[in-house]
Amino acid sequence: MDDSRRESRIPRSGIPGAGVGAQAKPLETSRAANAVPTASGPLGKRKADAADAAPDNKRPTFSSGTGARPTRSNTTGGAGGRTTSLQGATSARTGPSAGMGGSELGPIAEETWDDIRDKTGQGVEDVLNKKLSFPKGTKPERKVEAFVPLVKELKALGRHLHSSSQRLELDVEQWKRHSAELSSAAEAERKEWHAKQEEVAAQMGQIRELLEMQEQQNKQLEAEIKAGEESLSAKEAALAAVTGKLDGVQGELERTTKSLEEREAKIREMEEVVRTSQKYSTTLQSYNTSLQADLTSEKARRDEVQKAKDELQGQAAELGGRVRSLEQLLAYEREQVAKLREEREAATRDLAMLRADLDNTRQERERAVADAAKAKEDMEKLRAVGGKSLETLEALNNDKATMEAQLAMQTKTIATMREELAGAKEGRAMADAMADSRAAQIAELKAQVESLQGSLADAEKRVYEGELIRRKLHNIIQDLKGNIRVYCRVRPVSAAEAADAAHDSEMSLDFPSSGDLLGRGLTVVVPGNLSGQAHQKHQFAFDRVFSPGTSQDMVFDEISELVQSALDGHKVCIFAYGQTGSGKTYTMLGSRDQPGVIPRAMQQIFTSGQKLAAQDWRFNMQASMLEIYNEDIRDLLSRKKDDGKKHNVTHDTSGVTTVSDLTLVDVNRPEAVEQLLAQAMEKRTVGCTHLNEQSSRSHMVFTMRIEGDNTATGAKVSGVLNLIDLAGSERVKESGATGQRLKEAQAINKSLSALGDVIMALANKQEHVPFRNSKLTYLLQPCLGGDSKTLMFLNVAPTREFAHESLCSLRFGSKVNACEINVPKKNVVVPRG
Ligand code: ADP
Ligand code: MG
Repeated sequence: MDDSRRESRIPRSGIPGAGVGAQAKPLETSRAANAVPTASGPLGKRKADAADAAPDNKRPTFSSGTGARPTRSNTTGGAGGRTTSLQGATSARTGPSAGMGGSELGPIAEETWDDIRDKTGQGVEDVLNKKLSFPKGTKPERKVEAFVPLVKELKALGRHLHSSSQRLELDVEQWKRHSAELSSAAEAERKEWHAKQEEVAAQMGQIRELLEMQEQQNKQLEAEIKAGEESLSAKEAALAAVTGKLDGVQGELERTTKSLEEREAKIREMEEVVRTSQKYSTTLQSYNTSLQADLTSEKARRDEVQKAKDELQGQAAELGGRVRSLEQLLAYEREQVAKLREEREAATRDLAMLRADLDNTRQERERAVADAAKAKEDMEKLRAVGGKSLETLEALNNDKATMEAQLAMQTKTIATMREELAGAKEGRAMADAMADSRAAQIAELKAQVESLQGSLADAEKRVYEGELIRRKLHNIIQDLKGNIRVYCRVRPVSAAEAADAAHDSEMSLDFPSSGDLLGRGLTVVVPGNLSGQAHQKHQFAFDRVFSPGTSQDMVFDEISELVQSALDGHKVCIFAYGQTGSGKTYTMLGSRDQPGVIPRAMQQIFTSGQKLAAQDWRFNMQASMLEIYNEDIRDLLSRKKDDGKKHNVTHDTSGVTTVSDLTLVDVNRPEAVEQLLAQAMEKRTVGCTHLNEQSSRSHMVFTMRIEGDNTATGAKVSGVLNLIDLAGSERVKESGATGQRLKEAQAINKSLSALGDVIMALANKQEHVPFRNSKLTYLLQPCLGGDSKTLMFLNVAPTREFAHESLCSLRFGSKVNACEINVPKKNVVVPRG
C-alpha cells in the first residue's frame, strides 16, 4: 500500500494526523499560486527554497516501517537531520514509558509501529477496533497473555503517533515560519506592486496632463488656424477691394486721360481760334489803316475781338497750366498704380506661401492629432492592461518624448506662423493705407476733374460764343473786303520762253516796290506797233497782286478765309480767269508737288471739319465735277466715256441747285478728292491751238456741298464751294481758230463776257442780273450774289508777247473790281512815253 492510498484512508479514520496532510496541501497550493508572478522576481529564490524544502514536506506524511528494518529507517533518517533528531527525541521520550511498560509487561520486545504494520498487515484502525473475546471460563492469565500483543501494538502505535505528532508540530512551526516568511515576502511584494502601481498612476496622470495640454494646444492651434484662415480670407477680400479700387483708379485715370485729351484738343482749337482771331485782328488793323474814317464803329468791334482773344489766350494759358499739372499728376498716378500692382503681386506671392505653410501646419496638426489619438488609444490599452508591462511604460515614455518633441516643433511652427501672420497683417495695413491714400488722391483728382469740367463747360461756352463772334467777324471782314474780290496772279517766265529767241520774253509787267499799292498794284507795258504807236503803260490795282515768285502756299493763304466761309455755311465761287497758258489750271489744280487751290481747299475743309467735331459739328461732304463745253454740261465723274446725256440745271426755292444725272460722290478724305480730280482731268476736253500746245476749251466746275450739323445745339449749316477753272480767254481772231475751234472760242467768249456782266450787275446791285445768258452763270446763280462770296483769279502771262492778252484780262478784272465798296480802285491808263 502506497502513501497516497494511506492518506486517502486517514481522514475516514478521523485521526488528527490526517489534518496535517490536509493542511499541507493548501500551503503548497498557495505557494504554487504565489510562485507564478515572482518567477523572475525576488520570489524566485523563495520558490527554490520551497523546492529545497520539498523532502521535508514529504516527511509529515506517514512513513510506515519498523525498526526491524534499519535500512529503511536509515534511509529515512538520511533524508534530513531533523528527522534523525526527531527520532532521537522520540526514543528519549519513549524511554521512561518503555521502562514503565517493562516493569509491567516484562520481556515484551519493543517493536515499532512500522514493524508491526509490515508484519501483521493491519492498519491503525484495525488495531484500534480490535476486540478480544474469550470463551467462558478462560483463565485471567490467559486473558492477560492474550492482551499482551495488543498492548504491544497499542504501545507501538502510541509511540508512533506521539513521534508523528511531535514531527508534525515541528513541521507546523516550520510551516508557520515558512508561512510568515512567505507572507512577509508577499507583503513586501504587495508593497512593491503598490508603489509601482502608484508610480504608473502618477505617470498616467502626467500623460493625461500632457494629453490635456496637447488637446488644449490642438484647440488653440485650431483656433489660430481658423483665425489665420479668417485673416487670409479677410486679406483676400481686402486684396479684391484694393484690386477693385485699382481698377477704379485705372478707369478714373483713363477717363481723366480721355478728358485731358479732349481738353487738349479743345485748347488747341481755342488756340486756333485765338490764332484766327489774331489773324482777323491783323487783317482788321490793316484795313483799319485804309478805312479809318469809315470804320470807327468797327474799331469797337475790333477791340471786342482783341478782348475776346485776350480772354481766350488767358484761358488757353490757364488750361495749358492745368493740363501740365494734371499730366504730372497722371504720371505720378501711373507710377503709383504700377507700384501698387507690384505690391499686390508680392502680396499674392506671400499669400500663396502663407497658404502653403498653413497647409503644412494643418497636415502636421492632423498628424499630431492622429498621434495624440494613437497615444490615447495606447493609454486606453495600457489602462486595460493595468500597468502590467514596464516595457509599455518605457514605450509610453518614448512616445511622451516624441510627443514633447512634436509639441516643441509645433510650438515653433505656431510662433513662425504668428510672425508671418503679424507680417501679413502689417502688409495688409500698409496696403489699406496705400488704398486710402489712393482713394484720397482719386477724390482730389475727381474734385480737380470736376472743377476742370466746370471751367471746361465755361470755356466751351466761351468757345462757342467765340466761334459765333468769329463767324460774325469773319463775315464782317469778308464783307469789308468785298463779296466780290479780284486777285491777280502773274506766272513766271517759263524756261521754254526764256530759251526761245523768237519769243519776246521781256517782262511786260511791273510791280510797285513801295507805297499803298504794294502788293495790290501792277503796271502792264504794251509794246508799240509798227504803225508808230508807242508803248503804253497801264496801271491796275486789285485786292491782291501776286508777282511771279509767289508760291502756291502763299496764294492759298490769301484765300483760305473764303474756304472757311464755305464751312461756315456760305456759298463761295472761286474762278480762274485768263488766256490759255497763263496759269489757271496751275493755280486751281497745281501739280503733285505744288498742289493748287482745289486740293488745298479740300485739305482745309477736312481738317477744319475734324476740329469742329470737338464742338459737336458733324459734316457730310459731296463732290461733283462737270465741264461746260459749247454750252453743254458734261459729267466728269461719270464712269462712261461720254454718256451723251443732256444735263439740266434747276434751282429750288432754298437755292439748292440740281444738275440732272450728275454724279455726286461722298468724300470723307482728301485722297478721295485727288482720285476724283485725276479721273476728271482725264475726261476734260482738251484742244490744241497754236497758242499753246494744250489748251483747255471748256470751263471746269468743281463743286463741293458741305452739310454741317451740330449735335449739341441743333444748328445746321449748308455751304457750297465752287472752284472753277475757266476756259482760255484769248481773243478768237488771234487764236486762228476755224470751224469747231472757232465755235468753241465763240462759246467761250460768250460765256466769259456773260460772267463779267453778271458779276458787274451784282456788284452794282442792279435789279436785273443776266444769269441766263450763259450756262455757267445760270448754273452758278445761287452761288453768285446775295451773301455769297466770289473771288476771281486773274491769271496773267508775264512776257511782252502776251501783253495785249494780259491787258484784256486785267481790264476784265478791273471792270469787276471797280464795283467794290469803299476800296479805292485805280485803273490808271498812263499816256505813252
Ligand atoms: P492754263 O491752264 O491757264 O492754260 P497752265 O496752268 O496750264 O495754264 O500753265 C501753263 C504752264 O505754265 C504750265 O506748264 C504750268 O506749269 C506753268 N505755270 C503756270 N503758272 C505757274 C506758276 N505760278 N509757277 C510756275 N509755273 C507756272
Ligand atoms: Mg488750263
